[in-house]
Amino acid sequence: EGKIVTIGEILVEIMATTAGNGFLEPQPLIGPFPSGAPAIFIDQVGKLGHPAGIVAAVGDDDFGTLNLERLKQDGVDVSAVAIHPGAATGSAFVRYRPDGGRAFVYNMRDSAVGRIAATPEAGTLLAAAGHLHVMGSGLPVPAIAGMVRSTLPALKARGGTVSFDPNIRREMMRDESGRAIFHSVLSVTDLFLPSGEELSLFSDEIDEAKAIAALLDAGVKEIVLKRGEAGASHFDRNGRTDMPGFVVAEVDPTGAGDCFGATFLVARRLGKSVLEALRYANAAGARTVTVQGPMEGSSSFADLDRFIAQTSVRT
Ligand code: ATP
Repeated sequence: EGKIVTIGEILVEIMATTAGNGFLEPQPLIGPFPSGAPAIFIDQVGKLGHPAGIVAAVGDDDFGTLNLERLKQDGVDVSAVAIHPGAATGSAFVRYRPDGGRAFVYNMRDSAVGRIAATPEAGTLLAAAGHLHVMGSGLPVPAIAGMVRSTLPALKARGGTVSFDPNIRREMMRDESGRAIFHSVLSVTDLFLPSGEELSLFSDEIDEAKAIAALLDAGVKEIVLKRGEAGASHFDRNGRTDMPGFVVAEVDPTGAGDCFGATFLVARRLGKSVLEALRYANAAGARTVTVQGPMEGSSSFADLDRFIAQTSVRT
């Protein structure tokens, strides 16, 4: 039934090991870890054994090789990842503030991420996709928005499906062209995957139930709202299903939403019920936060079955 395909950034993440004074003093760092929201998402799809592919760009360096090796090892088609000898793979330095929040130093502006382009390899992968996962964070990049725009009509016409993780900041919705592309993707979205705060960016409704109803009226088929440690809720025309989160000790929250979304999507494509898919997705999100590194906690179905059998849910 075709690959699940996504488009977007691949980078490495390097983390501070103390909350103290940020990067203003020398300290031991840990990493590099493979990262980038689209990369984390597609790695989790591959780990679950579903055909997967990504359109991206890396530099001809160890950070790129690290990512490519990991994605290949987990079964992801990387034929449409361009390797640019003249550019470095992007990196992000992450530290925890004493209040538990995260702060980032990005080294992406002139990195290979900016070279993502509609190559012949990208065209081949997208033309055969059965499902496109759109990442909101990539839509402000003209080359990515262009590929999304040109892929969607044919994909839908051949019976393909679309998921959309908005992962955006409020600023992106301020200008007219930003809003226009978000809403055009939303209008063909089968599975929308916002987190709580993101929902409010897509609706004038402050009330959650009204915002959800407005999205379903606008043509979105299924919505799964991610609620962090509290779990998740699913909405469609038939109603609402809640699933509490698993009780785990959070070490590193990065990547939970992407592993969650990938797992819900694959579980549904394999014919699992909404309840089963939510349980698997919560388990995948919870496992991700228990380890350092955004992709280090990705899960096979065997990992998830074992975790579910051994872990209690929040009551
Ligand atoms: P991120 O941007 O950090 O990748 P997100 O904001 O898109 O994540 P979250 O709601 O934080 O999404 O996490 C996604 C899912 O992962 C949650 O719905 C839940 O199932 C699981 N999860 C996240 N944090 C925890 C936690 N501390 N304990 C248990 N489960 C968690």
